[in-house]
Amino acid sequence: MRLKAKNIRYFSFVVAVIIALPLPLGIFTGFYIWLSPYVFLNSFLAKTGFTLFNLLGIIFLFLAVYRHRWICRYACPMGVICDTSSKFSKKKKGKFPRLNKSILILALLISLFGLPILSVLDPFYIFNNFFEVLSPEIALLVFLQISGLIVVILLNVIFPHSWCTKICPLGGLQEIVTDIKKSVIHPKKTDQKGMILSRRFLISGLAGLGLGLAFRKLISVPKIKKFRPPGALAEEDFTTTCIRCGNCIKACPTKIIQLSVETSNPFLFLAPEIGFDKSYCLPECTLCGDVCPSNAISKFNFEKKKELFIGTAKINLKNCLLTQNKECDRCKFYCAYNAVQINSKNIKSFPEIDAEKCVGCGACKIVCPEQVIEIVATEVVA
Ligand code: SF4
Ligand code: SF4
Repeated sequence: MRLKAKNIRYFSFVVAVIIALPLPLGIFTGFYIWLSPYVFLNSFLAKTGFTLFNLLGIIFLFLAVYRHRWICRYACPMGVICDTSSKFSKKKKGKFPRLNKSILILALLISLFGLPILSVLDPFYIFNNFFEVLSPEIALLVFLQISGLIVVILLNVIFPHSWCTKICPLGGLQEIVTDIKKSVIHPKKTDQKGMILSRRFLISGLAGLGLGLAFRKLISVPKIKKFRPPGALAEEDFTTTCIRCGNCIKACPTKIIQLSVETSNPFLFLAPEIGFDKSYCLPECTLCGDVCPSNAISKFNFEKKKELFIGTAKINLKNCLLTQNKECDRCKFYCAYNAVQINSKNIKSFPEIDAEKCVGCGACKIVCPEQVIEIVATEVVA
């Protein structure tokens, strides 16, 4: 039985590696993060909505009720990394304080304030992000993304098995689930007082409430509208609830979603942003909404996409070929939303944008031979 669990875990590890690789996996991009009930609970408490994929997190939570640390035994790819790195430790047992349940409580309470920031401690998340090492992106960003797994490995080398048994909040969640199960099945045998009122729990609970309140009071998100993926929540909610998993960036077929390097405000840092330098948002694509595990980008379909405004196109008519009596209708031809009309005035023709139809997909900007079109913000956050 033990061997079987190990084999399943190795199989899961291989699948997790394939999913984390930069491959065109469509709606399965970064799929393993959906399996984590820790990520689900953080996003759920931050009230970012609920999709069918979230059911996976709930199912895994129930499996943890069925069997103690079911996710660790059978599914978590981090277990393989931790076991392997712990073998390099000179110590047999490491003295490390047990923090997993406290980190979990801290994270969930901060999430209650709409800030699921400690989702970054999820083992599926850390594992997935490590594969950004294969990305051609800016070195510092990649270093930040891969540093999680490096820290976990170092911790295990110094304090063997410390990540899985003492730190991992997903492990802590499974332990709490088992504690609750025991207290329901054997109420007399369980020290419920100890479980609920332990000093460490109380401190982390208070710290979570304090930090959540402090973040909300002290840090405000600038009211400048950025170009976010279609379906993104309103600016403030988006920047605070996006967990920076990078799924939307990996899934976007035209690679127009990038990590922001804006450092003027902590909530803007690493928030996915659209840049129209090389390509545009394909009208038939719904992937960023499909793969977002925090629901910072809500799921949308083709019909709904017509109402999801990224920005709006603005044409500099002075340099437009049409206004110089030369032939061109590329912006009109390539607009999938029928938002460009060719009008005429004083025997001069000119293109005009219908602001109600233009979603700011950027197609006209990319195809304009004179590069006279830019995408501007449609909305300033009040
Ligand atoms: S909908 Fe647009 S921004 Fe989102 S993944 Fe597709 S092409 Fe990229
Ligand atoms: S918006 Fe992108 S980076 Fe943020 S949580 Fe959703 S998929 Fe991940």
